[in-house]
Amino acid sequence: DLQTVKNIRKNKLIPGLITYYKEPVYVHQGHMQYLWDTSGRRYLDLFAGIVTVSVGHCHPTVVAAAEKQLRKLWHTTNIYLHPKIHEYADQLVSKLPGDLKVVYLTNSGSEANDLAVLMARMHTGVFEGISLRNGYHGASPYLMGVTALSTWRYNTPTGFGFHHSVNPDPYRGPWGGKHCRDSPAQPGRPCDCVLGQCQACDLYVDQLEDVLRYSVPKGRVACFIAEAIQGVGGSVQLPDGFLKKAYEKIRAYGGLCIADEVQTGFGRMGSHYWGFESQGVTPDIVTMAKGIGNGFPMGAVVTTPEIAQTMGRALHFNTFGGNPLASAVGSAVLDVIDKERTQALCANLGTYFITELDKLRSEFEVIGDVRGKGLMIGVELVKDKKSRQPLAAEEMASIWEDTKDMGVLIGKGGLYGNCLRIKPPMCITKADVDFSLAVLRCALQKHQD
Ligand code: PMP
Repeated sequence: DLQTVKNIRKNKLIPGLITYYKEPVYVHQGHMQYLWDTSGRRYLDLFAGIVTVSVGHCHPTVVAAAEKQLRKLWHTTNIYLHPKIHEYADQLVSKLPGDLKVVYLTNSGSEANDLAVLMARMHTGVFEGISLRNGYHGASPYLMGVTALSTWRYNTPTGFGFHHSVNPDPYRGPWGGKHCRDSPAQPGRPCDCVLGQCQACDLYVDQLEDVLRYSVPKGRVACFIAEAIQGVGGSVQLPDGFLKKAYEKIRAYGGLCIADEVQTGFGRMGSHYWGFESQGVTPDIVTMAKGIGNGFPMGAVVTTPEIAQTMGRALHFNTFGGNPLASAVGSAVLDVIDKERTQALCANLGTYFITELDKLRSEFEVIGDVRGKGLMIGVELVKDKKSRQPLAAEEMASIWEDTKDMGVLIGKGGLYGNCLRIKPPMCITKADVDFSLAVLRCALQKHQD
């Protein structure tokens, strides 16, 4: 029963685990974009197990592929050859541009980022790296230094060889966030820029250059890691063009550019298969996880043959990465994305969702910002539009609890925990979006009254 489960959670699992909602959802079953609790109540899942269920809970094609492989072979480790692993590696790299053709399979995003940073350090012979403030890249002791969100760091020296450079948040970033976000996702949004025009990119890049100039010894850096939309940081969308300029600077300092696609990959951006493509750049190393396995624990690092060659000199191993079962699941996920036109769906529904949320923004004083691309959406709640002060935690919680009580599960994030994160399985429908908007309107109206 629910009370026993609650007690086990409280007494037997480490307290650092977060449980969403005052009255937690006791999930029992999932199908596509829906979850059911033990009482049979259905929820629309707009958070997808933290941006992980990409094509749908228990998607029949993925289940069938997993079942087939389960009966044949799960595991051998990568000391033997197995056709599934090699077919999958081939299929995965076919989704990446340019020279990004060598794969290393892992079990999680943290493992993928750990390895990417190690690769860059080995390839360049330099230790120092650069990450963006407000970015999240994993929770291993190594990555706690790379992740530049104070909520996720403890007992690790600041940075751990990484410099947390600029906060690329056009709404809440440096200069009071008082410059506009000139995003094509929101055409016609009036510019409230104190600078006169949107110069955010140039200012951010100047700040990055400063960090490189003053903090990096001998003018050399190993790598730069960034998400195109910062997920855990509150769906913060980098200004268009920022990564292009940032990559140029980093490469001038001899560094490799790592794209963290753990949340933004596999079509979720709608307009592009990968987040980095939306910024017009090609990284040297790409890391992925979450959506790659639709909930099955998987991750990957993809890089160029030249960079991979550096690793040829070093033994690197993990027991489970790319096991036959994971490879079968990963391959089925890629098939579904191709066959069910997932990316196009994401682009259309995402634009519709964002446009409608923006209309809500003009109606409700507490919606400070609506941002994102495709189905990677953030809604930032504030005290009022003018001050941009984060909405008080209790008020935020009451809106969020109300949406859950009306049957919609939404994520939250950002440094102040005041951003609603909307990142559903990519199979949602227009009816689901309309339902979510109605629920949000209702919760916001109640808050306003
Ligand atoms: N990078 C990003 C952008 C993430 O959002 C996360 C997880 N939230 C990670 C890396 C780490 O992935 P994992 O939890 O699978 O280790």
